[in-house]
Formats: sequence, C-alpha cells, structure tokens
Amino acid sequence: MNKKNGLFILLIILLSSLLFAQGDFFGNRFKEQQTYPALSNSENNYLATLASDEVDFKMNADNDSSYLELHKKAFVVDLHCDAIGRFLKGVDLRKDNAKGHVDIPKLKKGAVDLQVFACYSPVPQNEKEKMQAAKNVLRQIDGIYRLVEQNTNDLALVRSYREFLKVNQTGRTGILIGIEGGYAIENDLSLLRSFYRLGARIMTLTHWTHTDWADGSADSIPVFGGLSDFGEKVVKEMNRLGMIIDVSHVHDETFWDVIRISDDPVIASHSSCRALSDHFRNLSDSMLIALAKNGGVIGINFEPGYLKVEFWNERNKLRKELAKKYGLPADRRLLQKADANKKKRFYAELKKKTQELLHKYKIDVKTVVDHIEHVIQVTGSTDYVGLGSDFDGISTTPIGLENASKLPNITKELLARGYKEEDIKKILGGNFLRVFRQVSEKKKEKRASVD
Ligand SMILES: [Zn+2]
Repeated sequence: MNKKNGLFILLIILLSSLLFAQGDFFGNRFKEQQTYPALSNSENNYLATLASDEVDFKMNADNDSSYLELHKKAFVVDLHCDAIGRFLKGVDLRKDNAKGHVDIPKLKKGAVDLQVFACYSPVPQNEKEKMQAAKNVLRQIDGIYRLVEQNTNDLALVRSYREFLKVNQTGRTGILIGIEGGYAIENDLSLLRSFYRLGARIMTLTHWTHTDWADGSADSIPVFGGLSDFGEKVVKEMNRLGMIIDVSHVHDETFWDVIRISDDPVIASHSSCRALSDHFRNLSDSMLIALAKNGGVIGINFEPGYLKVEFWNERNKLRKELAKKYGLPADRRLLQKADANKKKRFYAELKKKTQELLHKYKIDVKTVVDHIEHVIQVTGSTDYVGLGSDFDGISTTPIGLENASKLPNITKELLARGYKEEDIKKILGGNFLRVFRQVSEKKKEKRASVD
C-alpha cells in the first residue's frame, strides 16, 4: 500500500466511525422523541443528575460565600403563592413593596425561576357562591395574563416543561397557573378542560373542606370517604390532560384514593410534615412514603402554624381572646364586616403578639429545613421534596424567610447542614421539574375524554 492509499483508508475509517457515533446519537434522540420532544445534551445531563441514585447526601461544605452562587445557578421553583389576589386589589407588583411577600423585584432577588400563582377558589358558603366559583377563578387567570402582558421583560407564562426551559434561557421568571380548590370546576369536566386550555397545570382538589366530590382535610368526618365516583373521573381526566393533581388541602382518605387511582405522580404543593407538627394540613410519614413511591413531590409550606402546631393553637387562642377584648366576632367572615376602628386596634395587637409567639417558638429558616430534612429521612432520598412557600396566603412568615427575596437562606442552611450541590438543586426546584416534565410532556394517549 502506498502512502496515498494509506491516508485514504485512514480517512474512510475516521469518517465511518464518526457517522456511526452520529447514528447512535440520532437514534437516542429519536427514542427520546417517542415520548418527549428532543432535549439538548445539557438538558439531558441535568435530568441524568436528577435521576441519579445518591445514597450519601452530605459533604463537607465551605458555605461562606458560595450559597448565593449555588442558589442563582439552581432552578428555583416555588409551588404556591397567593400574590394574584394582591395584584387584583391594585397592588403594583413591579415595585419592591414594603408589604406583601411576592413582587417582581423580590422574585428576582430570590432568584426564582418558576413561581406557581394559585387562583384561589374558597369553600362556597351557599348555592349562589357555588355557581360563581368558575367566574372567580377566571378573573384571577385573567389577572395573571394581564400581569404577564404588562411585564413581558420580566415574566412569562409557562405551560410545559419545555416552555419553562425556553423562558428560563431568556432570564425571565416563569409563571405557572394553579387552581386552589376544585369548587372552581363547578362539578363539570368541560370547565376543567377549559381551565387546562387557558394554561392551568395544577389543581388542588379541595380547599379547607369538601367539594361535591372530594373530602377536605378540615372535614372532621369525611362525606365521601375520599373521592366520589365523579371525583375519580376528575382525577382520570386530569391524568389524561396532563394536569398535576395537588393533594394539599385534601382529607387523608382523598389522598389515599388519589394515590390509588392516579397514573401520574402527584404533588402536595404547600404542606409540611405531620410527624414534626401534628396539623391536619400536613402529611403523615406513611403519606410521604406513598407520595415518594408515586414519584411525586411535597413543597414545604412556610406557615408557622403548620411548621409548629403549638404556634397554631396558641395563635388561635390569642385571636379569640383579642376578638373578645375588642368586642368583635371571632368568625373571619363576620369580622370582615365589623367596625373598622375596632378592627384596626385588634389587628395591631394581634400582629404584635403573633411576632412574640414566633420568637417564643423560634420558627425560622431552620424550622423549614427541619421539615425538608424530615422528608429526606423518611423517604430515604432527596428526590421528593421542594418549596411551597404559601407566600401572600399566610399572615406570618418564619424568621429569615420574610418574603420571596429571602429564599437563598434555605440554600445557605442546606449547605451548612452538609448537603451536596446536586441534592440542593433537586430540593430547590429540580424535583418538581421532574414531575412537571413527566406530567406535562408525556405522550398524550389518544383516547376520548372521560365524559
Ligand atoms: Zn392553601
């Protein structure tokens, strides 16, 4: 073989090995496309780290300055806030407001990549309210659209995992629409589908007490023993649509029915751990294990009364005592219509004494991380916990987590406890994004809707 032929053969070998590698590459991508749209290599690497089987979660961390860097690098997702109610009351969320927990500057400072905006549907008090539930939620969805349209440089609506990645690359905060309270669908699956079409991707089945088809966590005696037959249809239809079922607020019986019926992972967007704080809004250890087996996520709620039930009980007692002192009704709805002057004095004293209680029970960023750590210990993994602040839905916040801008303090505390970067990233948002990707981008089955 002469020199020229040798070079030619070498070139053929090089080219064919390159083509072989490319073929394998495209083959994998094609396989990926069977269920999901193609992802870039960096996205795939990121997802691989989410799926990795880590047993030893901790490391010795030098956390003095690196926590902010890590926090900014991570995908930070907050699974629940009630800020749209403030926007609809006329609060300018473009300003760094002294009051309130969530606005655009605070989301930026907290490096929030995806914020769930809950559209709250309260428990209807009568038939008339029941028939206005959808309209009430539609008004809030319209509010979210207007907020995003007025702030296109800072915010963008997100309806799928892929859309989140695109929005994130532009540096904007993604806004995900959630519905809080299944009363919103007015017992009609066509309304559920319409909400989905408008971009709602999460729904808590109930709020405080039952809908006409699912029991709530504040129902002392379950009406349906969990889900009614129609309730099961709602779960199936949410599965079919690719809408995440949220078990925060539901009764334990409803939780177990959902776990049994749902084909997809479910989330508890804003609840905490009952083993640390025996509150009905929290999840028991067996529920946490079931949620993990289902592949879901719990977003830890920052409400001090859920984090420490002693605080909840004492604040309730305080509230009743102060209402009596100022000659006001203890019932919240009646209180709304009471004398404004009396109310002002009542709320001022309640606020002051509640802050004293917060310090008495030392409810702070460490308490929140205790709940995060409890989920990790019970499930044996860092894969099933996230953040569900309940900002703007709670009147008191833990010390060090006063609003969305303080979220990096969680990263700081997790680093101080020795958690590894990749596990902290999962907790801050990666775990939810795994569920979001799985539910929002699964191959839609070509079967008819439930009804
Ligand atoms: Zn709630």
